[in-house]
Amino acid sequence: MKPLSCLLLPVLLLFAVAASADPVIVQQLRVWRAPDHTRLVFDVSGPVEHRLFTLQNPDRLVVDIDNARLSEPLKDVDAGGPLVGEVRVGQPESGPLRVVLDLKAEARPRSFLLKPAGPYGHRLVIDLFDAKAVEQEAAESKQEAKLPATPERVAPKPAPRERVVAIDAGHGGEDPGASGRRYRTHEKDVTLAIARELAKLVAQEPGMRPVLIRDGDYYVGLRQRFEKARRQRADVFVSVHADAVPGRSAYGSSVYALSEKGASSAMARLLADKENASDLIGGVSLSDKDDMLAHVLLDLSHNKTMQDSLSLGEDVLAELRRVGPVHLRRVAQAGFAVLKSPDIPSVLVETAFISNPAEEKKLRTPAYQRQLAMGIFRGIKQHLARAPAAPPAPVQAELTREPGQTHVVRKGETLATIARQYNIHVEALRFINDLGRGDPPVGLRLRIPYRQSDS
Ligand SMILES: [Zn+2]
Repeated sequence: MKPLSCLLLPVLLLFAVAASADPVIVQQLRVWRAPDHTRLVFDVSGPVEHRLFTLQNPDRLVVDIDNARLSEPLKDVDAGGPLVGEVRVGQPESGPLRVVLDLKAEARPRSFLLKPAGPYGHRLVIDLFDAKAVEQEAAESKQEAKLPATPERVAPKPAPRERVVAIDAGHGGEDPGASGRRYRTHEKDVTLAIARELAKLVAQEPGMRPVLIRDGDYYVGLRQRFEKARRQRADVFVSVHADAVPGRSAYGSSVYALSEKGASSAMARLLADKENASDLIGGVSLSDKDDMLAHVLLDLSHNKTMQDSLSLGEDVLAELRRVGPVHLRRVAQAGFAVLKSPDIPSVLVETAFISNPAEEKKLRTPAYQRQLAMGIFRGIKQHLARAPAAPPAPVQAELTREPGQTHVVRKGETLATIARQYNIHVEALRFINDLGRGDPPVGLRLRIPYRQSDS
């Protein structure tokens, strides 16, 4: 036994040394331009160690990638846009592979690695955010966070309020979505075209205003999609897709809403899994997901929102039936991450099957894109006509852990009676105070998230 392990050890060591000496191959660089940032994606043959730093006079961003080499010289990379100028690569004899980006404006860099997903292997992603856009967004969300704190700020806005329709073109940038068989049409291009048509229709309607969640070929994280809709105080949220399934025969439109209890069918679940994988393919770093937990836990106004979503979905489906065939006769449900807004009725529309060659062909034509947009628009319009323009309520998800006041638990009180007293949801109270199941002990000081409105 012993001689054998003695023999094995040097062999294993040799193997380990050889493996670590093998450089990572940097194969390609893709550049995606979004309004507030530029994303650079390096395809790499394995996980990499890297560092970012900036240089001034002139402004540059330097990316050092350890133990790496280029598979071939980068073709003229045109990062373009307002942020990035020329991209150069240096490869000293020893030392890291160095990529230098000339910056045209002040930028905040952020980088992360992505594991293989969808059509891609390992990737190194560098996001360069427009410093000005970042500041503006921070100011906006700070203002937003304060909204429910004081009664006058949650008071209804003077009627009639403009109805805001958030239109989300599925996928984008790194994430092409599904692809057609005959023309290799990317879902992300079709969804953007339909979304833009829909936005035009909404903009023409008095009292309605569209918000395009993305308006270009770049990826937006699933959470950021409904966050953007919430910042704009959207009344409804519609995510536009064009699905693919194995085989060529499936056809027709379908409409989906969120379910937290489980999917209404195996197909709905499969589809939700596929759509939810977008963040892995499109590229979202872990830090983007950090505060997701609070949202999920505070998804308490969801019961009403989910009812509204179903009724919005039925309206849209009824109108799509007039445009073309429908795949499912009812609104289906599954755990779609992009529909998890706690307070905006949200649906996901699979306009047609891009995997069906006949539907792929139609999806590419502006005429059909417009018809689909018209169907979705009519459904939204009907829904909004029936749903009163409620003032944006103090939404649960805007609760913070900063307490407005405290409450000391008295004998005979339960979490439910205390919650009722302050007009907040019992689960919100539990979340804010990190309580487990059951009632709090007498004498415990509870944090109350916000004061009951006087109205
Ligand atoms: Zn999709």
